[in-house]
Amino acid sequence: MAISLPERTPTGLLIGGDWLTTATHLEVVNPATLGTLAEIGDASPAEGVQAVQAAHDAFADWGSSSARFRAEILRKAFDIMTAEIEDCARLISLENGKAWKDAMGEATYAAEFFRWFSEEAAHVQGDFRYSPSGDKTIITDYRPMGVAYLITPWNFPAAMATRKLAPAMAAGCTSILKPAQETPLTALWVADVLERAGAPAGVVNVITTSTSGPVSEAILSDPRVATLSFTGSTYVGKLLLEQTAQRVLPSSMELGGNAPFLVLEGADVDSAVEGAMVAKMRNGGSACTAANRFYIHASLADEFTTKFEAALRGLKIGPGVDQSNDLGAMVSVKERDKILEFVQAAESEGTTPTMAGDAPSDGAFIAPYIVRGVEHGSTLTRNEIFGPVAPIVIFEDPADGIRMANDTEYGLISYVFAKDAGEGIKVARQMESGMVAINRGIASDPAASFGGMKESGLGREGGFDGIHEFLETQYFAVDL
Ligand code: NAP
Repeated sequence: MAISLPERTPTGLLIGGDWLTTATHLEVVNPATLGTLAEIGDASPAEGVQAVQAAHDAFADWGSSSARFRAEILRKAFDIMTAEIEDCARLISLENGKAWKDAMGEATYAAEFFRWFSEEAAHVQGDFRYSPSGDKTIITDYRPMGVAYLITPWNFPAAMATRKLAPAMAAGCTSILKPAQETPLTALWVADVLERAGAPAGVVNVITTSTSGPVSEAILSDPRVATLSFTGSTYVGKLLLEQTAQRVLPSSMELGGNAPFLVLEGADVDSAVEGAMVAKMRNGGSACTAANRFYIHASLADEFTTKFEAALRGLKIGPGVDQSNDLGAMVSVKERDKILEFVQAAESEGTTPTMAGDAPSDGAFIAPYIVRGVEHGSTLTRNEIFGPVAPIVIFEDPADGIRMANDTEYGLISYVFAKDAGEGIKVARQMESGMVAINRGIASDPAASFGGMKESGLGREGGFDGIHEFLETQYFAVDL
């Protein structure tokens, strides 16, 4: 597998259909080698505002274009992305570090948002009713909000971009996308796909920057910006909500998680281990949906932990672009070290972390850890680990398992392994999370509503809800 960048990898800012160079540059690093992958544009607040101007100018035509026109551009973007899926996966793996199969999985998932929202674009339904009092008719209409500011994290550089760009475009909004500085190349590549698919100049703008705070402040305080869609940590989400509150700006928030993985008495241990390997190890554990805490019924705990450890030991660790590896690098040395600090904290709390495998010493690699003897309420159960560390907590009473699973300020996703789907759904109804995976290790699907309860977010992406994050509801009272 070549480690060079795909031929079409833009490095400038995309503003108003032009790829622009900037006065200073931002270095993108390959976390598997710690070498430089590219030097890209480093936008200033002034360039952020220039992107707002371009998006605002483009909205006049795009916002009033036909749904079919927008749908066909999105469908073409799906076709191009699918034809070039390996380029996308290579970029993801090179800048994020994730294993090839995870990068291919993400690229495919990301492309599906273009297909799903190409279909949704033409399916927005208004509503016509008679008022119960009989004095008028009620017409509910939807219209695009306008200029959308989209901020994405580094852990899914393609999918988080398409999960926002596709519904924004389908709704008739124009966008400014700001990817994370660790992984901007994939977002630039996605924007190039949209340009080739026929997105008119200014409909999609991308700015990359080393100063997200000031650039975002300039953009969010601009009265031409109509909505914010953010995916990232709860900490930054709260900072942004303080800013958007000043303008009462609609704010969609996809924030952090602390997902419990609950294995109840009577569950099939092999399928729970299979699910755990996906829920914990997809993306090397750097997923908002990653299983963060394992609550295992006492009757299954030994068997589950032994089999889970054996499966972790079977993973081959190394550069993600080498297809034979199962676990790639973390996104940076800083992120790897943060995870190792969690392991050290667990050890100082009296648990026994077991390193399950060997990681290469060069690059931002880390071996998986399984941690036995963990108490609910300890460091590993309270913090989003975002890496391949699996703390195991044992419970006897199912009510205790459910209580501990819900005992967090987060509420993105829960995993429930039960003896059958019926019991699984019964328990799922008690989980305080926006999503529940029942007897399986993954839930994400472009056709399903993705989002969290509690401090994991506001709003939903994907499914039938996703497009409505970019539509304004308007009610007409009329005598007909
Ligand atoms: P992060 O530090 O919150 O950064 C996310 C984005 O916000 C990046 O583009 C970042 O830019 C930007 N940012 C940082 N500070 C900012 C500020 N003051 N103003 C405006 N933008 C700012 O999160 P991350 O470390 O990239 O991603 C990991 C987190 O995302 C985890 O908590 C994970 O659970 C969450 N996540 C949630 C979902 C979901 O759907 N719920 C999906 C994926 C990830 P810079 O790169 O320049 O810092």
